[in-house]
Amino acid sequence: MTCPATGADSPERSLDPEDWTEFRKLSHAMLDQALDHMEAATERPVWTPVPDEAKQALVEPVPMEGQGTAQVCEDLTKHVLPYATGNTHPRFFGWVHGAGTPGGVIADTMASAMNSNLGGRDHGAVYVERQVVDWCRRLFDFPETASGLVVSGTSIATLIALTTARYQKVDYDVRRRGVQPSEGKLVGYASAEAHSCMARTFDLMGLGMDALRTVPVDEAYSMDINALRAAIETDLAAGKMPFCVMGSPATVNTGAIDDLDAIADVCKEYDLWFHVDGAFGAVAALSENLRPRMKGIERADSIAFDFHKWMHVQYDAGFVLIRSEEAHREAFTLRREYLTASPRGLAAGNPWFCEYGPELSRGFRALKVWFALKEHGIKRIAEKVDDNCRQAAYLGELVQAHPDLELSAPVSLNICCFRFVAPDMTTEALNKLNSEIVMDLQESGVAAPSTTKLGEVNSIRVNITNHRTTTADMDLLVNAVAGLGRKAVEV
Ligand SMILES: *Cc1c(COP(=O)(O)O)cnc(C)c1O
Repeated sequence: MTCPATGADSPERSLDPEDWTEFRKLSHAMLDQALDHMEAATERPVWTPVPDEAKQALVEPVPMEGQGTAQVCEDLTKHVLPYATGNTHPRFFGWVHGAGTPGGVIADTMASAMNSNLGGRDHGAVYVERQVVDWCRRLFDFPETASGLVVSGTSIATLIALTTARYQKVDYDVRRRGVQPSEGKLVGYASAEAHSCMARTFDLMGLGMDALRTVPVDEAYSMDINALRAAIETDLAAGKMPFCVMGSPATVNTGAIDDLDAIADVCKEYDLWFHVDGAFGAVAALSENLRPRMKGIERADSIAFDFHKWMHVQYDAGFVLIRSEEAHREAFTLRREYLTASPRGLAAGNPWFCEYGPELSRGFRALKVWFALKEHGIKRIAEKVDDNCRQAAYLGELVQAHPDLELSAPVSLNICCFRFVAPDMTTEALNKLNSEIVMDLQESGVAAPSTTKLGEVNSIRVNITNHRTTTADMDLLVNAVAGLGRKAVEV
């Protein structure tokens, strides 16, 4: 038997480059482009609409034949790289987006080179994720018996947390028998300002979105705790089976803070699972100045939060932290014979991460988290949280002092909702004008806030979760909004 040839004309040639020297040169040039892109983050327009040329370039037949590394790199730098979302820019204020860091480029590159699968087994990457889990547990004062998992974001973290909650709070084997026996009975609670990932989770869990009860908010947009109690009592009286309550350390619309301690009390009283949607709000609790306002977060049964928002880790990276490792594993473990662990060798390393969530194959997201936390430290990240809250408060003051602007909601954290106003204009006309102002700002590349509706009023919503933002950006934004508004009404 002869060994087959492995050269360029061999049918067995791998996908590795034929010329590593050439490949290295190209890779270094691409890395420089990546770093140039980050270094110039503050100099570009915030957002650049994708030109038709680039859109057309991205409509090609399926590449049956390879085009080669150099060609793909060229297409990438020409048609993709210049048209990023814009959240690396200091005046990206839309939704809740983190800004990323240059260090993340290193971490992503290394994770890619290692190409680890974190479903389980015994290899270096696993120990990095375990370290991240342990740090998160300590940051939120959770017990040693807690567990956690690095996931893509708060949406999936919420699904994992509430699936665990359901298994704990239902008195039959819900994993085997499903939710049918209790059809229409399981209900949970979140405020009217809760993120849509809650309703989605109820949908995905087969409980139905109606089973998530909407608790009204007070004038500060925080959950009305008396209304929560009343809702639970009504459901109990109707034979329903309440199992969880979700609280927010910061709501997505206005940054309102729920009274987490009070929610924890209610959960204790009624034996309900207390989940915290901490997507960005949990990170505020890392600031010593803000932590007292999030009191009660340490009493949660589970916390879902993002590294990719206020911790500035590159997309995507979130976390689910669960008070009881046992509860967490019980809700997800499903290891068949082909996933059995060995006492030693590569198949050791119990427990495996695939026992804590729905994914079996998992990438090395934990590396960029580990890298960022070690590189910058929690104190520095917390300082940036404080900076952003100060900037939002300053923006609120500028708005209140401005004759043409009006605050739409109190500024409690890092979000400021406001609008341009002019005398003699209807709510409808003002709504349209403020939406136009936001689209103009985005298209001009000056700033990228988003919009939200508070009551009947369309607001310009400025969220600051950005380590590059400065106070001067607030002055610039206010002038730009007022300028666009005045120009529109004077026409
Ligand atoms: C962003 C956000 C979510 C969803 O998180 P993803 O990481 O986008 O899945 C949930 N809740 C709040 C309050 C958020 O801001």
